[in-house]
Amino acid sequence: MARYTDASCRLCRREGMKLFLKGNRCLSEKCAIERRGYAPGQHGQSGRRKGSEYGFQLREKQKIRRIYGILERQFHNYFEEASRMKGITGENLLVLLECRMDNVVYRLGFAPSRKAARQLILHRHFSVNDKVVDIPSYQVKPGDLVKVRENSRNIDMIHAALKDTGKGFEIPWLRLDKAKMEGQLLERPKRLDIPTTVQEQMVVELYSK
Ligand code: SF4
Repeated sequence: MARYTDASCRLCRREGMKLFLKGNRCLSEKCAIERRGYAPGQHGQSGRRKGSEYGFQLREKQKIRRIYGILERQFHNYFEEASRMKGITGENLLVLLECRMDNVVYRLGFAPSRKAARQLILHRHFSVNDKVVDIPSYQVKPGDLVKVRENSRNIDMIHAALKDTGKGFEIPWLRLDKAKMEGQLLERPKRLDIPTTVQEQMVVELYSK
């Protein structure tokens, strides 16, 4: 499976904001944005950024792709699906991304980042409605029960991540039972309840050209 191999912190520095790709490190003083908040590369410190409308729209698309760890082709497919759905395309796009299995596992607090969630899912540590799911892009539906599998309940990374769960933004469309190591997607999220700071409308404008 193709994935980004570039250092995660470089992606944040490129976008000029925290994309929260590395779990707890993102909240610590070790965060590269705190230490070197300029773009990577030779001209990073010159502070020059593309100022065109197209440039801003493109950056916004890249930001969303990087936050959710989606490759270009797959992202385009999500956009196509979002535009076929009823409602606002930009919002639909974020909802589709939020309902990915790797995102749900991360949001529930079973993993410190979406990247770590993807690894755990690929290693078959989770089930949905008692069936093993090892596909990070799997779309979780309202009512679906996501569980840490019986044999995976002693994994340190999951316990460490769970310990920090609930310290940040509360997710009203998810229910977590820490003791049972399971969670449920209660309903498809609304835009207001998605704690991702992006301007998804710009992506719609980009693709409408
Ligand atoms: Fe981004 Fe996290 Fe790295 Fe900070 S520590 S630059 S938020 S990935």
